[in-house]
Amino acid sequence: EVEAARNAASTENLRSPICCILGHVDTGKTKLLDKIRQTNVQEGEAGGITQQIGATYFPVEALRKKTAVVNPDGAFEFKVPGLLVIDTPGHESFTNLRSRGSSLCNIAILVVDIMHGLEPQTLESMRLLRDRKTPFIVALNKIDRLYGWKPIANNGFRESLNLQNKGVQNEFRDRLEKTKLAFAEQGFNAELFYENKSMAKYVSLVPTSAHTGEGIPDMLKLLVTLTQERMTRQLMYLSEVECTVLEVKVIEGLGTTIDVVLSNGILHEGDTIVLCGTDGAITTQVRALLTPAEMKELRVKSVYVHNKTVKAALGVKITANGLDSAIAGSRLLVAKNKDDEDEIEELEEDVMGDLENLMSRISRT
Ligand code: GDP
Repeated sequence: EVEAARNAASTENLRSPICCILGHVDTGKTKLLDKIRQTNVQEGEAGGITQQIGATYFPVEALRKKTAVVNPDGAFEFKVPGLLVIDTPGHESFTNLRSRGSSLCNIAILVVDIMHGLEPQTLESMRLLRDRKTPFIVALNKIDRLYGWKPIANNGFRESLNLQNKGVQNEFRDRLEKTKLAFAEQGFNAELFYENKSMAKYVSLVPTSAHTGEGIPDMLKLLVTLTQERMTRQLMYLSEVECTVLEVKVIEGLGTTIDVVLSNGILHEGDTIVLCGTDGAITTQVRALLTPAEMKELRVKSVYVHNKTVKAALGVKITANGLDSAIAGSRLLVAKNKDDEDEIEELEEDVMGDLENLMSRISRT
């Protein structure tokens, strides 16, 4: 009861949004992810960034530090407790992260190489985002490749641009306008983020460099702004669990495990869970909820920490009996009463309703 009260639905008490990274191959998705995860230990910049199962969690403290250069007076107010970024960039994880047609990814970063413009997989990503009505921002990456660019590590984009010579500024404007035109051709209005007057009508373009870190503070601030200003309803805590299987993996000593993203609600050790299997619904009990151990203690025996409960949003590895036939992409439901056969049957039917969709996706890949 106490737990329920603490997590009561309220726009004052939001969960962390979940972010996916999409885009054409070689645009810098992986490098961008590496760069935002990178911490500066000397300056105590880590701020509690944690490596999770299939995801990286940035608590608000880390976001505050990583956006400080574009928030010097600290006036920008953070309302979300953090940000969960899915570690596998690309379509795969985005399409897996869905539930009954709606996406469990709250916001996406579409990465575009500023030197190449829109490429085939960019267009494919745009179609997916449109179909799922997922809000997104565009990282216009590799600005350091503009001819003559003088980098200032991890700077805000606007200031860095102002310090460039006229030729660089002109080339940037030129490529920006071409990009906006290409987006318009796809039916999206796009604007440079600090010239965007309406996030509801225009997609924001944030110039970035995954090499120099420039623009990354702007990108993170924009993700937070967009989620907490326009998505509060989706980010309220639910008493119901929203959870999706990302991967099914055999781990030595643990047997078949599932890596899931818990996007809302709370999971407990011992919970009765229901998910899709190739031979029908799987109903089983959570044996362990595992998260990675911190790397500080290198001689620790296990690489995982056992949790009694875990709270959204995060990535977690679940061990349980009977997971051999589990299907990636499946929703995971939790029974309120493990002895209520009617409820279990209902959940099994519910979850197996997704099977057709899941199988068609498996056969396509
Ligand atoms: P992905 O396929 O989208 O994940 O792209 P990667 O992150 O693997 O990057 C592809 C290549 O582009 C690598 O050689 C990166 O070093 C390079 N790259 C990525 N981001 C940048 C950037 O901001 N500037 C420059 N100059 N190169 C980049």
